Amino acid sequence: MKETYAGVRARGGEVEELARRRGFLWQAYEIYGGEAGFYDYGPLGARLKRQLENEWRLFYSLEGFYEIESPNIAPGEVFRASGHLNCFTDLSVVCKGCNSFFRVDAANGIVAGGKCPECGGELVAAGEFNLMFQTRIGVPGGDVEGEKGEGYLRPETAQGMFVNFQRLLRFNRDKLPFGVIQVGKAYRNEISPRQSLIRLREFTMAEAEVFVDPRDKDSHPGFDTVKASVVLIDPAEGEGGALSIEDAVRSGVIANEYLGYHIAKVKEFLEKVGIPGERLRFRQHRKDEMAHYARDCWDAEFLSERYGWMEIVGIADRGDYDLSAHAASSKEELSVHTPDGKIIPHVIEPSYGIDRIIYAILESSYGEEQVGKDKRRVLHLRPALAPVKVAVFPLLNREELKREAREVFHVVRRELIYVEYDDSGSIGRRYRRQDEIGTPCCVTIDYQTLDDRTVTIRNRETMEQRRAAIDGLVRELKKEMERIRDSHV
Ligand code: AMP
Repeated sequence: MKETYAGVRARGGEVEELARRRGFLWQAYEIYGGEAGFYDYGPLGARLKRQLENEWRLFYSLEGFYEIESPNIAPGEVFRASGHLNCFTDLSVVCKGCNSFFRVDAANGIVAGGKCPECGGELVAAGEFNLMFQTRIGVPGGDVEGEKGEGYLRPETAQGMFVNFQRLLRFNRDKLPFGVIQVGKAYRNEISPRQSLIRLREFTMAEAEVFVDPRDKDSHPGFDTVKASVVLIDPAEGEGGALSIEDAVRSGVIANEYLGYHIAKVKEFLEKVGIPGERLRFRQHRKDEMAHYARDCWDAEFLSERYGWMEIVGIADRGDYDLSAHAASSKEELSVHTPDGKIIPHVIEPSYGIDRIIYAILESSYGEEQVGKDKRRVLHLRPALAPVKVAVFPLLNREELKREAREVFHVVRRELIYVEYDDSGSIGRRYRRQDEIGTPCCVTIDYQTLDDRTVTIRNRETMEQRRAAIDGLVRELKKEMERIRDSHV
């Protein structure tokens, strides 16, 4: 069914406009002129986001990983130990003409000596800028002494899992490997963010930390289930291209089975939530761009029509960096006893940026087509993510139809929950609105309904309508949504 819309290019600007107008998302603090790097999710966006996060939780729960929830604020010693206070920096440049600051980005030509993207002036180096948001824990000048009271907002959820390693290991019966997940806010004081959801100062991460015996990195128990998966690979050195995970690992392009397994899983998840596989690639970090904690890192990148290739997930091999650092700093033992000694586990970490994934989903599910004089805009969202599952309409604004439609609405809502009733404007306008927010099914009540207790079900993808009995309607709607889901595969 997707072919129907082939040739219709999703345009980032239009989908952002639609998202604002229809209540998905917009820049935060609008009434005060907006604050760069902060976004609000409105009624539909918050639902979409919650459902995406829950899909992610289920996906990693199937790996046997448990979720934890740790605080957003940590004392300074945590981030001194993790290296963030020293190393979590970006290079900045400033424009001699308009005084705007920019994050150095060689790919966009934003470097010292380059031209200002705002005014064309000369850019000059403005030094390293630490991205950590500082705050204070407790009353200033009260019981706070020296470094006590110095707090930071977390720049990733990961540290909350590392500092809890001993408890999590015990919970997992002192055995490796095991995984832990966390979904939550992260804060980075980005240098002048200008690109909607792509670069935020407060954003949502979904991270899995997989603790593994370093000697076992080359044998993942589930490797056979992913080895045939083909991914587009852009390695730091040597030839890339479309490779099966098995070939990529066996030839050494991907360093070990654990990394290979998790790269394949990232692709599987992104496709499951509606990002086309052909717009994804995995790019290995070059030596000079690796985070301070990583020994190897791959970015899952999405090909955006608006922003070009952009990172949406990072998959890092953090080695024993974090556990060793916290062990040294806290003087606690963060290691595992094995029959032949004591080892510090290595960590493989898929780190998803939920907001960028939402952007990628919106951009790749947006379609336009000309229907007569009208432009039909559709969000081809997976039914599992659609903020409204079913809309119920009376065909005409007549009391007897409205009464029946409201009854049908109550019945359907009891089971499918995210259901809307709408009797305003022409039926065509109502269908268009639901198409724009990605509602998979619309149910219409007409005069025939009063005779034979049947309604029409309209499918968002085909726009076909078929009659179904009110008895068993919910079952029919679920079937229709399965059809839409399967048509995406
Ligand atoms: P990192 O820890 O830098 O690899 O980030 C992991 C993921 O978080 C990235 O792949 C992005 O999807 C997301 N991310 C990082 N920084 C930002 C930001 N400033 N705004 C939105 N998402 C971000």
